[in-house]
Amino acid sequence: MTTFLIAFIVPMAIGLWAQHRVKSTFARNLQVPASHGMTGAEVARRVLDANGLHEVPIEETPGQLSDHYDPKNRSVHLSPDVYHGRSISSSAVGAHEVGHALQHAKSYSFFRFRSAMFPAVAFASQIWMLFLIGGIFLQITGFVLVAVALYSVAVLFQFVTLPVEFDASKRAKQQLRDLGLVGSSEAGGVNSVLKAASWTYVAGALAAIAMLLYYLSLLSNR
Ligand SMILES: [Zn+2]
Repeated sequence: MTTFLIAFIVPMAIGLWAQHRVKSTFARNLQVPASHGMTGAEVARRVLDANGLHEVPIEETPGQLSDHYDPKNRSVHLSPDVYHGRSISSSAVGAHEVGHALQHAKSYSFFRFRSAMFPAVAFASQIWMLFLIGGIFLQITGFVLVAVALYSVAVLFQFVTLPVEFDASKRAKQQLRDLGLVGSSEAGGVNSVLKAASWTYVAGALAAIAMLLYYLSLLSNR
């Protein structure tokens, strides 16, 4: 019972807390207009162009906090709040997604590693559960071992995501500062939005490792 609590309930609570925090911090700073008066899409365009990435398109994507960079098509996708918003949140998130485009353009090591891992992770995430269930029902320890090994790939991916996300935020803050897009009084708001977002990735990684430890403890008990 204690291991179950540690493996599932605690990480889930941390995850929910992180989700809540990113939503509320984002919403609060969405009400704070940025002094430059530009939309998130315009900020993203400005940062991309300043770095010679004129060919990287910025597109609007539906949903909330659905912002992402697509490495396959080399394109930045911003949610409506960010794309059209002229707020601190819009600038922060727009610049963060461009941060990934900069990582891609500069062949940042963790970004490359993460992209290279992606197909294997997608495959492992789809089939590990089949091996786990099969292993438990058919009483085949080898299947459970394979499941845990496949799951480890997904856990590793969550951890490789951390430096990638932290670095994208670091690049975003630096670009906003260097291009004079954020005043000294606005830097705090930008920081809190980006920090809240990075906590969701930390929570995800913690949950993943807790689950892995749980499965390993199940295995060692057999
Ligand atoms: Zn990111």
